[in-house]
Formats: sequence, C-alpha cells, structure tokens
Amino acid sequence: MCTVGGGPTGDLNFDDDRVKVKNYRCNDCEEKFPHINPNKKPICPNCDSANVTEI
Ligand SMILES: [Zn+2]
Repeated sequence: MCTVGGGPTGDLNFDDDRVKVKNYRCNDCEEKFPHINPNKKPICPNCDSANVTEI
C-alpha cells in the first residue's frame, strides 16, 4: 500500500477576504471602476485620469 500524497488538500487554500477590491469613480468622466492592486495608483480606464474618488 502506498499512501504518500494522500493528505488533505492544502495547496489551493486561497482566502477570498485577502483580495480587497476598491471601487473608484472618475471625477472627470464619472466612470466607475474597480481597483485591485493597492501598490498602484488608481487610474480611470476610460480617460486615464488620476482624479478619482473612492466610493
Ligand atoms: Zn475618467
């Protein structure tokens, strides 16, 4: 009998709460868009403006 690798699955144990999505609204064109990466500045995908407000 070989039972190697028969443990409970732990490789795909992602926690959804760790991924925070913030929503922003562009002050220039009123476009609403989600921003996922906190290391990057939120930029409007519609007009490339950085003049956005978190909603
Ligand atoms: Zn915009």
